Amino acid sequence: MDNKQGLTYSEIRQAILDKIPTQVGITRIEFEGPRLAIYCQKPEFLQENSHIVGEIAGIIKKRIVIRSDPSVRMGEIQAEDIIKEILVEAGLVQAYFDPALGEVVLEVEKPGVAIGKGGANVVEIVKKTHWSPNFKRSPPIPSMTIRQIRGFLYSKSKDREKMLRETGESIFRPIYQQSSDVRVTFLGSARQVGRSAILIKTRESEILMDCGINPGSRNAIGSFPRLDVEEFDLSRLDAVVISHAHLDHCGFLPYLYKYGYNGPVYCSEPTSSVMTLLQSDYIDVTRKEGKAPPYSAEDISEVILHTIPLGYGEVTDISPDVRLTLHNAGHILGSSISHLHIGKGLHNIVYTGDFKYGPTALLQPASSYFPRVETLIMESTYGGPDNFTPSREETESRFVDICNKILKNGKVLIPVPAVGRAQEILMVINKHMNEGNLLQVPVYIEGMISEATGIHTAYPDYLSHDVRDQILKDGINPFESDYFTVVRQHDMRDEIVEGGPCIVMATAGMMEGGPVLEYFKRLAPDENNGIVFVSYQVAGTMGRRVQSGMGSAQMYRNDGKMEIINIALSTHIVQGFSGHSDRRQLMNYVRRLKPSPRRVYVVHGEESKTDNLARSINKLRGVRGYSPRLLDTVRLA
Ligand SMILES: [Zn+2]
Repeated sequence: MDNKQGLTYSEIRQAILDKIPTQVGITRIEFEGPRLAIYCQKPEFLQENSHIVGEIAGIIKKRIVIRSDPSVRMGEIQAEDIIKEILVEAGLVQAYFDPALGEVVLEVEKPGVAIGKGGANVVEIVKKTHWSPNFKRSPPIPSMTIRQIRGFLYSKSKDREKMLRETGESIFRPIYQQSSDVRVTFLGSARQVGRSAILIKTRESEILMDCGINPGSRNAIGSFPRLDVEEFDLSRLDAVVISHAHLDHCGFLPYLYKYGYNGPVYCSEPTSSVMTLLQSDYIDVTRKEGKAPPYSAEDISEVILHTIPLGYGEVTDISPDVRLTLHNAGHILGSSISHLHIGKGLHNIVYTGDFKYGPTALLQPASSYFPRVETLIMESTYGGPDNFTPSREETESRFVDICNKILKNGKVLIPVPAVGRAQEILMVINKHMNEGNLLQVPVYIEGMISEATGIHTAYPDYLSHDVRDQILKDGINPFESDYFTVVRQHDMRDEIVEGGPCIVMATAGMMEGGPVLEYFKRLAPDENNGIVFVSYQVAGTMGRRVQSGMGSAQMYRNDGKMEIINIALSTHIVQGFSGHSDRRQLMNYVRRLKPSPRRVYVVHGEESKTDNLARSINKLRGVRGYSPRLLDTVRLA
């Protein structure tokens, strides 16, 4: 039988050898994850004659990377000295060598200067050292997470190389079954917000979209995706795709590695960094609550080792009959909408993850153009018939009014998820204090917010054009301000709680653990204080209960004993900062998606909302709307 996806490995090899002159000295041709790596002794020749690589890629229909053969690479210490000389005007901050790929990540202050005219410095570095440079702007706030990930990958470069080769061989294995029978099983996030996990199967491959936890559930069976069912077979899984770093989408991923999965994870590069931060925090928080976390730090390391980051718009083979492309989702840093092209045009699925079809200060709105779409799987957090968020201006002025009122005599507590809303609110507070609209009081920030903010500044290309230009062109850090103080020592809390009016921003966003609870316990009994919710509160969480106006709460004291906290502070909800699309934006997305989908599966919403939204979608011409139940399997093609 023939290989439906194109050329066999030996045909590919021949096509490469035909096109590349022998003087280049090819030593190996190998799969490197979804790409094909050509190892050679003179990579600079192909760098200078880049049309040759372009021609080959056109023939074999695969992405190609050129790697220097390890035997010709210069020693790392000597290479770094030479690179320093070449980049003397670019402000080299850090160099990270990656022996698995023959790449050196160079953090520089001026990437434009570093690359040189027409890429002259790139060619010079390759020629002199035989390492290929990968320039990154050094972030204004250094991120420990990114540093640790790079260090870890360096120490594991042999394992990484092996993983990429095996993944590549599996992706490009010959197809013996014609692509057919595209089926979807909802293992989580069906008629609920939480534990996103959607299995997509063809006769040839199996792909898991997201693998999250349910923060609102108290029992094991409700907390995690239903991986215990017959439809799910870990040993047959080709790939996991993670839409974004929130725990309800990636919090259960390390568990797959604990139980023997050793395949790849695809996501954007910022998602990979933020996900590591949030998964590690999840272990800490779970332990602090006296519970056993479902996985360990080693399992998170396995995730890092197996992650293949993709840029938006990069069309990538992830199995013999599935091609994945990530697009901007506008929800949080690095969040992605996944487009899956199955078979040769057999079926196309768009999975939104969480998305914002509208502008925010931080991010560009979600993409709505795709080459083809038959099936749309869409979130519906704010999909209810009355979930209309006010305009941006109304939202900001309401937020400012509420804070000003509380600040006359009290303190403002804002529970925020470390990633996304925190950075958005920091920018809003800074703007309105500078403009004199908001009382200029100290703003205290506690939890992982500053580390998450550091990760934001490392990936300016993923932010809104405004914020990106501030960082790249003007060298401004938009998350920094004279009003902000990062709380690093716990004993500072006493001063804050006993001091004058102030704003406290703390994690966790849904008040399920974290420093926000410490502040809440001490600020709640005073009616002069106020709590302001700026993000979605999942049913069953502490945040949701406070939001609904409960008068007292049983909470643990620091000595482990329970105490009853009287809740007298005022409670406020400001909806318009949400990183989710509201009802109008969700309907507009279905209407305006190009091309128009035939079927829409509504997920990631409370039961009443998914039902109602699916019924409204059903009334649109030529589109069927469904609200699948947990463990439903549907056949798409
Ligand atoms: Zn999310």
